[in-house]
Amino acid sequence: MTMLVIFDCDGVLVDSEGPANRLLTRYLNDHGVDISVAETEATFIGLSLDSCAKLVGTRYGVQLPDDFVPEIRRMTAEVLAREVTAIAGVREAVAGLQGPTCVASSGEVAKMQLTLGTTGILDLFEGRLYSATMVRRGKPAPDLFLHAADQCGVAPDRCVVVEDSPFGLQAAQAAGMRALGFTGGGHRDHGRDRQMLIDAGADLVFQRMIDLPSLVQAM
Ligand SMILES: [Mg+2]
Repeated sequence: MTMLVIFDCDGVLVDSEGPANRLLTRYLNDHGVDISVAETEATFIGLSLDSCAKLVGTRYGVQLPDDFVPEIRRMTAEVLAREVTAIAGVREAVAGLQGPTCVASSGEVAKMQLTLGTTGILDLFEGRLYSATMVRRGKPAPDLFLHAADQCGVAPDRCVVVEDSPFGLQAAQAAGMRALGFTGGGHRDHGRDRQMLIDAGADLVFQRMIDLPSLVQAM
């Protein structure tokens, strides 16, 4: 059966989470939030920046400045333009897939264009980039994945989501889609994180992107 593969971007197609979360941690520390890089990764990976700011308020009791989102966006873009790398094997994996693909990210389209463009894999997904900014509720709500499937003209039960974050896997499950957890990003460790992604709703967890076509075919 031909399936639409919906890729998350950060931590799945590009290794951006390490640099982005080090920067976010420094920003939060500077604004009175006592948090480590590891805690930032555990807490905020997979969330939009708006959701991030809300969670900082409820969990840490810190009201971030009004310009938090544009500021962190600007600084993150600078860091990523220098430090982002592609996940190994993405081009080969996409070439090996039988069906269509798209990208669905909590980040804005400009960020996807920057990271995918800088790493030389934007041509694989041009015109099929979907952002949480296009829907009312971000991950873990199903809205973004349902929007992406709808735009591609594919029913949710014919979609496979590839995600590195628990919020993203919850969103896939809520959308009625199958989901693969990916642990090949630099911020993930297969041994440490496999169970966490299973618990969040992954049907299966893998760590080498070149294995994707055979995994999708077997679904
Ligand atoms: Mg991700």
